[in-house]
Amino acid sequence: MIDFRSDTVTKPTAAMKDVMLSAPVGDDVFCEDPTVNELETFAADMFGMEKALYCSSGTQTNQIAINVHVQPGGEIITNMESHIYKYEGGGIAKNTGASVRLIHGNRGRLTIDDVKEWINPDDVHFPVTQLVSLEDTSNRGGGAIYDFEEIKKISAFCKANRLPLHLDGARLMNAMVENGVGIKEYATQFDSISLCLSKGLGAPVGSVLIGKEDFINKSRRVRKVFGGGMRQAGIIAAGGLYALKNNVIRLKEDHVHAKALESTLNSLNWVKEVVPVDTNIVVAILEDTSKRDNILGELAKYDIKIMAFGPGMLRFVTHLDISGSDIDRTIDVLNKLTI
Ligand SMILES: *Cc1c(COP(=O)(O)O)cnc(C)c1O
Repeated sequence: MIDFRSDTVTKPTAAMKDVMLSAPVGDDVFCEDPTVNELETFAADMFGMEKALYCSSGTQTNQIAINVHVQPGGEIITNMESHIYKYEGGGIAKNTGASVRLIHGNRGRLTIDDVKEWINPDDVHFPVTQLVSLEDTSNRGGGAIYDFEEIKKISAFCKANRLPLHLDGARLMNAMVENGVGIKEYATQFDSISLCLSKGLGAPVGSVLIGKEDFINKSRRVRKVFGGGMRQAGIIAAGGLYALKNNVIRLKEDHVHAKALESTLNSLNWVKEVVPVDTNIVVAILEDTSKRDNILGELAKYDIKIMAFGPGMLRFVTHLDISGSDIDRTIDVLNKLTI
């Protein structure tokens, strides 16, 4: 089977499983798991930030960050397509009781003008704006990368207004290998960063939340409250550490594969448009929106799985478990489908 539904479907390789099985472990709630500690130190150093916290998922890292930065009744500025709003089960309302200012932006991104326009003035009618949250790359934006200059402007404005800036960097490494901006440079722009280890990087479980010491100490308390205090978590953290050490640069390969799919899809008469591919996500918009499920079914006959991504939209995500020959085979199948 060739599974393009998500880059979360990757399975640990034999080499990754080896390090997991032999990882030294301890009780991480007592901060005594050497492998978790090593992962947290490695991630913090990689970003040039003070501390990191290993969590069970990207939803958990985002929700913890929101809970630490924002008081109930405060407001978060984010794009209406953002994962924190759209795909975290209403967690902003449920866990923190916060309000959201949703911006319609270009491919899931915010601009400095959005942030300037929607930060609330000091007036009793309005919720107090307490956080700006960006997503890079943007999932709903088809893997779109932020212009780093825009990030710098947003960051400078947030600093001047004492407004924390969070990055949902679930796929930050995909952006990084493409635009040549160093990880440490990204890190200087944000108060907190969430990075998924279980997507293109290939670990079976986990995300890291990275930030200043005081922020991470508070986050550790919130993680416990959210039920995320894990014990001998080194077994899974070892997979995350292996992923960070070995699987970053190779993301480039996934991007080359995504580009190949983009050009094939662009040549098909049943595809109206392909959202320009920046990284590992390919979103195709169909000429006839009613054919979407039909296409999913046709591809399934060839053992190719993709995902419906809204009305008349298909999503392909390339990752570690999709080889060059899988891409060649998929391109052959796409070319011969009669829709
Ligand atoms: C996948 C993803 C997350 C986290 O998802 P989990 O399944 O909870 O790990 C967060 N943000 C974005 C943009 C994502 O794509």
